Amino acid sequence: MARDDTPKTGFRDAILWHLTYTLGKDPDHAQILDWRLALSHAVRDRIVDRWVEATRATYRADAKRVYYLSMEFLIGRLLEDNIVNLQLADQAQAAMESFGLDYRGILLDEPDAALGNGGLGRLAACFMESLATLGCPAYGYGIRYEHGLFRQSFADGRQIEAPEHWLQQPYVWQFERAEASFTLGFGGRVVTRDGKLVWEPENLVQSEAYDIPVIGWRGDWANTLRLWAGRAVDPFDLERFNAGDFTAAAEAEALARTISRVLYPEDSTEKGKRLRLTQEYFFSAASIRDILRRFEADHADLRQLPQKVAIQLNDTHPAIAGPELVRLLHDERGLPFDEALAITQGCVNYTNHTLLPEALESWGEGLFADLLPRHLQIIDRIDDAHGRAHPDRRNTVRGDGRVRMGELSFIMSNRVNGVSALHTGLMKTTVFADQHRLHPDRIVNETNGVTPRRWLHSCNPRLSGLITETIGDGWIGDLEQLQGLEPHVADPGWLARFAAVKAANKADLCNWALREHHVTLNPDALFDVQIKRIHEYKRQHLNILETIALWQEMREIPSSDWTARVKIFAGKAAPGYFFAKDIIRLINDVAAVINADATTNEKLRVIYLPNYNVTLAERLIPAADLSEQISTAGKEASGTGNMKFALNGAPTIGTLDGANVEIRELVGAENFFLFGLTAEEAEARRTLPDHAARAVSADPRLTRAVEAIRSGAFSPDEPDRYAGIVENLTGADYFLVASDFGDYWRAQREVDFTYADRDTWARMAALNVARSGWFSSDRTIRGYMRDIWNAKSLLGQG
Ligand SMILES: *Cc1c(COP(=O)(O)O)cnc(C)c1O
Repeated sequence: MARDDTPKTGFRDAILWHLTYTLGKDPDHAQILDWRLALSHAVRDRIVDRWVEATRATYRADAKRVYYLSMEFLIGRLLEDNIVNLQLADQAQAAMESFGLDYRGILLDEPDAALGNGGLGRLAACFMESLATLGCPAYGYGIRYEHGLFRQSFADGRQIEAPEHWLQQPYVWQFERAEASFTLGFGGRVVTRDGKLVWEPENLVQSEAYDIPVIGWRGDWANTLRLWAGRAVDPFDLERFNAGDFTAAAEAEALARTISRVLYPEDSTEKGKRLRLTQEYFFSAASIRDILRRFEADHADLRQLPQKVAIQLNDTHPAIAGPELVRLLHDERGLPFDEALAITQGCVNYTNHTLLPEALESWGEGLFADLLPRHLQIIDRIDDAHGRAHPDRRNTVRGDGRVRMGELSFIMSNRVNGVSALHTGLMKTTVFADQHRLHPDRIVNETNGVTPRRWLHSCNPRLSGLITETIGDGWIGDLEQLQGLEPHVADPGWLARFAAVKAANKADLCNWALREHHVTLNPDALFDVQIKRIHEYKRQHLNILETIALWQEMREIPSSDWTARVKIFAGKAAPGYFFAKDIIRLINDVAAVINADATTNEKLRVIYLPNYNVTLAERLIPAADLSEQISTAGKEASGTGNMKFALNGAPTIGTLDGANVEIRELVGAENFFLFGLTAEEAEARRTLPDHAARAVSADPRLTRAVEAIRSGAFSPDEPDRYAGIVENLTGADYFLVASDFGDYWRAQREVDFTYADRDTWARMAALNVARSGWFSSDRTIRGYMRDIWNAKSLLGQG
């Protein structure tokens, strides 16, 4: 091969070409990393062609662009996603095998990009893929964290956090864009000049853009995920260096880089940290400038902005984008304030993700004024304008010395949406009840979804193959076609093949668990899976209590015909969330005791897999029999894990919370194991004095399980290790674990009973697949395009 051979001929040649000329490696001495990078470059070339075409088509059509602003994008590994969407999987596999390499091993060699905590960030990643699939011109904007979510391991059952290094190896999917750099200010003061208020920031930093192309299904369209990194305006102080102070010479650079150094690991809790607000303003301000620059490149009239630009705030983290846009239009472009505000409101929309009071963002006025003095004035003017328009209302954004970002986002937005039917309804009656009365048309619902390319087609090739053999491959781009499976569910031959797929996936998981974690799992047992962030409202402690009670009962009546179970847990706790970390340790302690018990060993195992991330989810979900979605009703906004499980043939045991409600409606009540208080009943229960103590003493099983924890049965070296958990369970128990325990136990025994009849179970599982097509993020994005953005597909899709 010679240098001037273009890498475009055959795909296999392209890989060799990149190995030689991009990486400078001799194939005889190339390592796995080299091969993976060469493969990635060959794939990337094919993406770039479509990416350029899509960008040109958008300019030609002068199409409206969607800008999705999100503090988190939990994208995971991209090589397989890109290969699958370009429909190169067979070629890539053949090429790698012709070089004597293990194709799956190459795919798994890629680091998992964890630029997010959980559901919110993963939703943003699924949305980017669906936007590209639907040919909707769109940009994702976020932060290029040098370190994503921490790596989790366990020591004596306790969570240990280690930094994550996804950028340690070359990252092929990013393109540095030196030309798209902005200088952003922080702090300083507001002065009056020529009768106008002008912000004079004290500190300046540079935002540097890195673009990741996102290609849609079948490779017909590609959009851009643009991530910002912090850089110093003057990275190096030569004078200080020459004076011998080498560390101080690079201080400005170190400080600027701090902004994009790490992802905050809090999930569903808000920590009012200065650096966090700095990050929020940094990426919001850079994005708004970029949006305006692109608009102004070929439009003269700023009043047209709402016709060409739709901005979506993924939660309140980018809420400052609104006041920043007003500031640029008013202070810097000279539009009258009211006009600047109206234009901004025509562009901005806000997605609410939580009703938990501890997760609603607010900032102390002092901190805010210190960092963003001009924005605080603008926020007050926005608040005043809103107050004047609705004289029966006081201002709502400022109060008790705080700046409330939810209120700000609401009054800045054209549309505000919830993420499941139940959650949207509760928004109207709780957090935004007053605002909803003033703006009855503003709140809309867009139930979340997941991309079927990653969460079925790629992660579960056996099931994907069976579906395609049965109904053709149209379902991958049109998930509602899964309904076509329904007539086959009654065919015993087909159902046996469906069951065999699950069995093979479980066997794979058993092999992996033995190889990687040295645990032996019984592939015939029911795989009962709860994987998600650890949070009291998600109630992993309800699950472990039921596990303890089950173990105790198995010991008491060993002769009974128990359904064998493997309880699988995975999930990270925020480093400062001590209750959640106690739950992790308790599960690990309980697992150690139960797994060592020879009398129950065959029937019950508990494992906690470390370092939950997208890759681990892709491995576990296809092998799951039962999906645990047991949050306290009214607390999980939607959930997306619940959808991934149903789509992969794992029926749910769950409460009427978030999108569980819609899952149950669609798959049918008879194919869903429902238990627990409703959101309304939960509210009422909390007002009963001693509700937890009463529930515990009324249920002998629960009493015995709590007593085992209290007495130190799982922590003999430190009997009061879980005194905090016990006190909570028998005391305040805000999340109603004790109240829901009895009904959860009942539903679990119904699961046991049903699973014992494997045909019945397989039918339930198959109907979950056939009826989950609605939970595609393609459907969700079509909803946003129609109800919120008024955006059109350039591929004629929806
Ligand atoms: C889907 C997903 C989530 C969200 O799970 P929920 O059960 O909805 O909380 C979180 N983390 C990862 C890695 C995921 O893939």
